[in-house]
Amino acid sequence: MPTAAQRERALRILDALAARFPEAAIELDYHHGEPWQLLVAVVLSAQSTDVGVNKVTPALFAALPDVRAFAAATPQQVEGYIKTLGLFRNKAKSLVGAAQAIVAKHGGQVPRARALLEELPGVGTKSAAVIVANAFGEPAIAVDTHVGRVSKRMGLTANDDPWKVEQDLTALLPKERLLEAHHVLIWHGRRICHARNPACGECPVERMCKKVAVATPTTKLTKPARPAQRARAPRR
Ligand code: SF4
Repeated sequence: MPTAAQRERALRILDALAARFPEAAIELDYHHGEPWQLLVAVVLSAQSTDVGVNKVTPALFAALPDVRAFAAATPQQVEGYIKTLGLFRNKAKSLVGAAQAIVAKHGGQVPRARALLEELPGVGTKSAAVIVANAFGEPAIAVDTHVGRVSKRMGLTANDDPWKVEQDLTALLPKERLLEAHHVLIWHGRRICHARNPACGECPVERMCKKVAVATPTTKLTKPARPAQRARAPRR
């Protein structure tokens, strides 16, 4: 269990990041109030950028507007809309399979329990946490590459395994702020605490950061100034 001082430090970091990124929110486009659309966007975002996903989902959702439409579609139909994304064949197969399972086992409603979500094709631990937190307001913090990297650098966790990082952050932060923490850590990782060359000089939490495994910039060596030449004595 973290100490009171560790929790207080984590809270100060969260407050500073929230002040820097007050607009932080999920960057995947979907119709809010439609958990199925969120699930689709999250599955599509694996190894793809949010920007790339947001380019394909408008046409995809126009053609297949809900979970029953996906359940009745073939993977090949879905593929046609998502070909610009990596692993599109696997993703299309997963989405049709997930839709069929939701219709068959859950009456067409995306389940609210993480364990049930994780049984669906294409939905892993991180995706399930994103879905329950964003769609159902459940206290969960999904750990993606940004959340994991930034948390470790700041000394909020010593772990690499996303599940253990999630446990560490959950123990440090108030439940009602876990979703907010998820968003601001991602925004911070994308905009300032980059994987390579984090912009520590622009960072709102630099004074609190432990900079674990962060290489300090090498000092630029400058040539020492030449000693002033002695004035020659005039020839006689
Ligand atoms: S000080 Fe540097 S390493 Fe630490 S959180 Fe800020 S940007 Fe990342």
